[in-house]
Amino acid sequence: MQQDEGERLRALMDLGLLNTAPSESFDRITRMASQIFDAPIAAVSLTDKDRQWFKSRVGCGTEIPRDRAPCAEVTRLGDVLVVSDLSQDPRFAGNILDQGGVRFYAGAPLITRDGFTLGAMCVLDTKPRTITPEQAKILSDLAAMVMAQVELQHALGRIDPASGLPNRNQFAEDLEDLARDHGGQERVAMLIDLAEPIQLNQSMRILGPTYLDTMIKTAASAIKERLEDGVTLYQVGVTQFAAVLSGHEPQALFKRIEAFFEEVAEQGPARDRASGAPVIGLMPFQLGEVSPAQVLRAALGAAHDARDAQKSVGLFSVALDDAHRRRFALLDGLHDALLATDQLSLHYQPRIDLRTGRCDGAEALLRWHHPALGNVTPGEFIPLAEATELARPLTQWVIEAALRQIASWRQAGIALNISVNVSPANLEEADFAESLAEALARHDVPASALEIEFTESGLIRHQARILANLAAIRALGIACAIDDFGTGYSSFSYLKDIPAEIIKIDQSFIRMLVPGGPDRALVRGMITMAQELGLRVVAEGVETQRAYDFLQSAGCDEAQGYLISRPLPPEALVAWMSVHDPDRHQPAAA
Ligand code: C2E
Ligand code: MG
Ligand code: MG
Repeated sequence: MQQDEGERLRALMDLGLLNTAPSESFDRITRMASQIFDAPIAAVSLTDKDRQWFKSRVGCGTEIPRDRAPCAEVTRLGDVLVVSDLSQDPRFAGNILDQGGVRFYAGAPLITRDGFTLGAMCVLDTKPRTITPEQAKILSDLAAMVMAQVELQHALGRIDPASGLPNRNQFAEDLEDLARDHGGQERVAMLIDLAEPIQLNQSMRILGPTYLDTMIKTAASAIKERLEDGVTLYQVGVTQFAAVLSGHEPQALFKRIEAFFEEVAEQGPARDRASGAPVIGLMPFQLGEVSPAQVLRAALGAAHDARDAQKSVGLFSVALDDAHRRRFALLDGLHDALLATDQLSLHYQPRIDLRTGRCDGAEALLRWHHPALGNVTPGEFIPLAEATELARPLTQWVIEAALRQIASWRQAGIALNISVNVSPANLEEADFAESLAEALARHDVPASALEIEFTESGLIRHQARILANLAAIRALGIACAIDDFGTGYSSFSYLKDIPAEIIKIDQSFIRMLVPGGPDRALVRGMITMAQELGLRVVAEGVETQRAYDFLQSAGCDEAQGYLISRPLPPEALVAWMSVHDPDRHQPAAA
């Protein structure tokens, strides 16, 4: 079959098979070929630009020059080739195999579904011999099995479709193979993070959606060019590449990487500083000691540390870094916690109306009991989750649990508005409002019984999308509250543009409310201005009667804090209400 060599090579590249680690699924077929044909040498041989590279082999090296290789001839012909005696065939006599004592060759083409011949499934012998047409058929069948395996692996998602690089799955599989063969040896995982997603998003908005694809492709080839031969580059995240390097002396490696980094930074897409500079995380480890997922996470942690410290390279040390270990344990654990039934729960902290003293609402606050680490505070695990893709399922969990609780209270005659905290990332989800509406309907809870709280920091980015989302949430009838007000880039001028009806003044202001103190004037000012803009004002962290009295006199609408009640499990909240508001909240029997 006539095929364009450029296209054929691209098809070969796209499969990402070249220079990959040995794999049992291919080796099994090669061993079978060797046995069936009673041949000392068998190989799955891929025809690269100027070499035959052996993905799998019995009885031979890793590659030979393409020039005058019989496998290259199979690739050219796209058909079975049998050479009884290489030394007698003018096409091959004197070539590297002939010189090495190989006489017999039989190869069947490895043909992709698109009709490209990648190379050959071949058997070789040191004696001249031949095979029957039936045997030639068997060889073709074996070649077809190899191709089925190739396509299966491809289909199983081992290749990133955009960059054509092997992906995270392949990384894991290769690392496991390596650990099996070289367990205990030192290696260093290198992770290159091209840019911060926030900055990337901004660049994409300015430069258009194809910007990311182009940048990733350019970066992938720039990095690949600079890696040592035989080192595979993986794409392990949208903007993240990884490779496993042999464990040189750390200092030397560090230097080499730093130089490499400088080069990438100069020539690569990083020149586009709008997306932030690329950073490298290094994770030294022993093969077989840590799972591939842990390796990647540690290397990513090191890269993030580098970014935070405004450095280009970060080094992770498992032994030295307990804090990291805890973070990884927490992130790992959070995945499990979302599926478990006994780890996450919601506590509810009542808010009271400062004019009437009534309790009409409570804030749902997440609690996590980790099976090994005990109670973990939201202050610790929420920011971790918010930096990962866990923010979405976590908020979903909270909303589900809160709505279930509201529904069950309503059935028991308890009417409370419950506010839930959502992460900035949630407000960027295109379908966030829609999913809220769906969940409300499913639990048969009116929108007015649910409120959402978000912090000012979440408003800084993606203004348009967030504002649209907030407007959609508000249109559903769900009230929106700006949490921790005063700690972000608070400016009253932006308040009027934000579809929120509540601000929650941060605890730090309330705690400082001493007579004559500057915070008194500040808090009074915040209350007045917010109310003039039509917002309700809630004071958080009310711990003392003095603060309570001041807030009441300053006209603040609601208060929440330890003075009133700590966050409570649902049953305890009901008990608290029956004492606090005996007339209104008589559960069930009322
Ligand atoms: P937040 O939303 O501002 O919640 C108020 C925090 O202040 C809670 O801490 C509450 O227990 C605490 N607090 C209430 N009254 C007082 C007081 O009088 N004195 C003092 N010192 N503290 C008081 P918590 O439960 O540890 O939560 C911390 C933060 O974690 C929350 O701050 C919120 O930002 C986040 N968070 C909690 N639950 C969730 C959740 O379900 N989803 C999300 N995205 N974030 C959550
Ligand atoms: Mg809150
Ligand atoms: Mg707060």
